[in-house]
Amino acid sequence: MLIRLGGQDLAIVGRARVYICGITPYDATHLGHAATFVWSDVAVRFLRHLGHEVQVTRNITDVDDSLLTRARETGTPWRTLATRQTYQFEDDMARLGVSTPTFEPQAHNYVAEVIELTQALIDLGHAYLAAGTVYGRAGDVAIGAGLSEQDALSLASQRGEDPTDAAKQHPLDTVLWQAADDGGDDDGNQPVWDSPWGRGRPGWHVECSAMALATLGPGLDLHCGGEDLAFPHHAFETAHAEAALGVAPFARAWLRAGAVHHDGQKMAKSVGNLVMVRDLLADHSAAALRLMICDRRWWDDWTFDPAALDRAEQRVTALRASTRQPDGSADGPDRVITALADDLDVPTALAIAEAEGGRSAEIVVEVLGLHPFEPTARTSMLPNP
Ligand SMILES: [Zn+2]
Repeated sequence: MLIRLGGQDLAIVGRARVYICGITPYDATHLGHAATFVWSDVAVRFLRHLGHEVQVTRNITDVDDSLLTRARETGTPWRTLATRQTYQFEDDMARLGVSTPTFEPQAHNYVAEVIELTQALIDLGHAYLAAGTVYGRAGDVAIGAGLSEQDALSLASQRGEDPTDAAKQHPLDTVLWQAADDGGDDDGNQPVWDSPWGRGRPGWHVECSAMALATLGPGLDLHCGGEDLAFPHHAFETAHAEAALGVAPFARAWLRAGAVHHDGQKMAKSVGNLVMVRDLLADHSAAALRLMICDRRWWDDWTFDPAALDRAEQRVTALRASTRQPDGSADGPDRVITALADDLDVPTALAIAEAEGGRSAEIVVEVLGLHPFEPTARTSMLPNP
């Protein structure tokens, strides 16, 4: 059936391929992360409910400058920090009832693929070498993202790029391969690999391109990730993949869940208003947290309200109980599916399920992942801090 997903009318034939930009493992999972991964999970569960085989890749960006900075600040070897936080993240996802991905590539295992992709971009004239660092040409990436050059530059510098790097031929060009900081010793402070351009490490955007292409092949059906990744990360991830392989679009549809606000501002580490998933799950069920996150359109920004979590707990209990009732009307289940096929219109699907009970409620419980479950406890596997 033709469904609307990620703002696109999307025909899916057989298997669906979904790529989700995962975390950079250097800190705990907060409610903003949870919104991204729960919405992605609902999209995947709905595709599976419709009978599609769904292959899901959720990567771990364990080679990234923000991770290296935190490792240096805390005096922790980068691999130790990444391993510990990856365990924590997977544990949080398990507690949240997020389906285990088919592939969970870690960037440090995909350096060979990044080198292949980077070499292809150089060979095709889309990248160039300067002093051991390889830069990808920005081309019309800003226009493609619907941004003026001014706005693109401002967003890029806010989000980890360095437009002032004098080695760049254009300020929006991005790093595909970063030359090692000092001669290239991996003394625990920086990850280093050999490459045709000297010792160094991959850039962030091309890591995701390489992991997506290597696990799912060209042409993703749905790409998910945080709303703040649209530019420059998703724009460059797309540009690199399309330029190297000549297959477009790289992703047919995009789902980036809206931002979560708290205490009057967008939830962000820099603001210091984070609400941690682990704390919320200490006295609320995963199902209530999932329902609270999804009781809106996925693109809407929203404000965290603890009272909404209590209300969600009651609604989950009532919804589960109503699955045991006879169907309210014969067309209830079809109307639930129609609502969900309209770009995951959860509020409408929920209203129908709550009015009808029976099979309608069962579908919503299944697609939103509201069943009671025992999370796989991973905490016991954690290395000692
Ligand atoms: Zn990514």
